[in-house]
Amino acid sequence: MKAVRIHQFGGPEVLTYEDIADPQVRKDQVLVRVKACSLNHLDLWVRGGLPGVKLPHILGSDLAGEVVEAGEYVSGFKPGQRVLIAPMHFCGRCVKCVSGQQNQCREFTVIGNAVDGGNCELFAAAATNVLPIPDTLDFNQAASVPLVFVTAWHMLVGLAGVRPGQTVLVLGAGSGVGIAAIQISKLFHCRVITTAGTETKLEKARALGADYGIHHYQQKISEEVRKITNKEGVDIVVEHVGAATWDESMKCLKTGGALVTCGATTGPGVGIDLRHLFARQLRILGSYMGTMGELHEVLGHVFAGRLKAVVDRTFPLSEIRAAHEYLEKSQMFGKVIVTA
Ligand SMILES: [Zn+2]
Repeated sequence: MKAVRIHQFGGPEVLTYEDIADPQVRKDQVLVRVKACSLNHLDLWVRGGLPGVKLPHILGSDLAGEVVEAGEYVSGFKPGQRVLIAPMHFCGRCVKCVSGQQNQCREFTVIGNAVDGGNCELFAAAATNVLPIPDTLDFNQAASVPLVFVTAWHMLVGLAGVRPGQTVLVLGAGSGVGIAAIQISKLFHCRVITTAGTETKLEKARALGADYGIHHYQQKISEEVRKITNKEGVDIVVEHVGAATWDESMKCLKTGGALVTCGATTGPGVGIDLRHLFARQLRILGSYMGTMGELHEVLGHVFAGRLKAVVDRTFPLSEIRAAHEYLEKSQMFGKVIVTA
């Protein structure tokens, strides 16, 4: 089959489109013909070099396609069935897994991180990870959903415990997590404030339901939030930007508020003023992916049309370098997809 592999860590030039052997399908697996795979910031981190990644390696976490065949021990799938793959790998038998907290399993990793991913034509998936999709969702839309929507759902619902009517600040409206977080917050009838670096992105965010947009190059986030909330602050901040926005994010919280973070695209080193943390009774929550239960839950809303996939642009798999370069420039609103 055709696949994109990296044989060394580095820039987009290490992405190599080549012929490799088809995957061997175990009896408890399902073989899927990949139609679309979305890019995430994780692809850039893995490409640049992360511990636990064995070379050569296939990137790509979010994939959708058609069932080719199901192994002997698997029932309930038929050839040609349209599916997406839950983007996580876990042992399935430890206490965390059996209690539904797969993202705390010691073997937990994201598909395409410490295990091979979906930038290829054929993918052998654990049956648990193969989830049928409705005809209303095309493959590009389906591939754009799982990682960012389960992440945003876990952050807002699982960890921060969002309640109807709260005020939520979502950083980075154009990012996948931002797009998911805006819509999930509106599903809970929250007031949503979001940020972006261009007016076009802010307009698109408003079209998704955001109530207020802050231009983060022209306006100071904490000052705008103060004005919008009548000096009260927000209940929840959805963070994934890191160093560049951390102080502003902390300033935006109301007393008792929660900052939940799942990333550090601008850098991991931040400071915390402990006096503010305890006196204002703030919560800082670290989030990584989500559980299989949460994925099923959020997909239910996507399949019913209450949450929408947003695809920015597609590239053929053979032109994946251009797709990575495009993602690195952060000009997108929504997901970047490679199609096999
Ligand atoms: Zn486990």
